[in-house]
Amino acid sequence: MSGDPLLAALEATSVGAAGDGPVPTMEATGTGVCCPGHRRSRPDPLATLNPPMPTRTARRSATPARLQRENTHDEIYEKIYIAILEHRLHPGTKLVEERLAEIFGVSRARIREVLARLAHEQIVELIPQRGAYVAKPTIEQALDVFEARRLIEPAVMRRLIETLTPEKLARLRQHQELEFDARRRDDKRAVIRLSGEFHSLAAELAGNTALARSMRELSVLTCLMIFLYDAPTSTSCRADEHSELIDAIAKRDSARAERLMLEHLDHIESSMNLEVASEDVDLEAIFGG
Ligand SMILES: [Zn+2]
Repeated sequence: MSGDPLLAALEATSVGAAGDGPVPTMEATGTGVCCPGHRRSRPDPLATLNPPMPTRTARRSATPARLQRENTHDEIYEKIYIAILEHRLHPGTKLVEERLAEIFGVSRARIREVLARLAHEQIVELIPQRGAYVAKPTIEQALDVFEARRLIEPAVMRRLIETLTPEKLARLRQHQELEFDARRRDDKRAVIRLSGEFHSLAAELAGNTALARSMRELSVLTCLMIFLYDAPTSTSCRADEHSELIDAIAKRDSARAERLMLEHLDHIESSMNLEVASEDVDLEAIFGG
């Protein structure tokens, strides 16, 4: 269609609009394959954290076929959310209401509802008279995100260990298998998404919905920050560090899990270039005076 990367990205996530069938891959690496596979093979635990905003129910006169074709609020939300998480939609990208409505085959009102929800979660920025944009966290906001994560995530570890069951441990290990698999395939998009989701999953399994909701938002903001500020060599969380965390959780060693989590966050933060630009830049040095 057009060369618009937004459209391209959204088209890639919107084919198969009924929500069944695999999301087509954007490239041969198989991006997206593990996403519908792992998201749809069982109920998405994270979906329960974000109950749909009240949407008008489908028009009574709609035929079943029409209903089937229409994307629900949750499906559209999830597709945009994952496209952002996987860096297919970049920070600062304009989300044109009209085009999204066409792509997803829904009304602009429905798109507005989804964008409002994403804006509420700080993933999207709504600018009056200009429209909706994928958020572009500043360095100061990025530092705030890490500060919040340092407060929240040790608490998540503590609570998860206190309430640990064999099922919860199995879920973490299952998730890690997906991460390993994405790394083996060198599927960078899936790796970034799954790394972030590891943290949201841990918070969700810990059983505190307020912590889990915050963690989900902080994870996606971290994904945006990785895109904006990551040093070119690193991608996201180190896989072995998630293994160590799971190991400490399995042993119910709360002190160790909390310490490992703080170290893990240090590593993620130090892999980003988050130095606030100095006011007095040496322009002569930069331009060879
Ligand atoms: Zn991690």
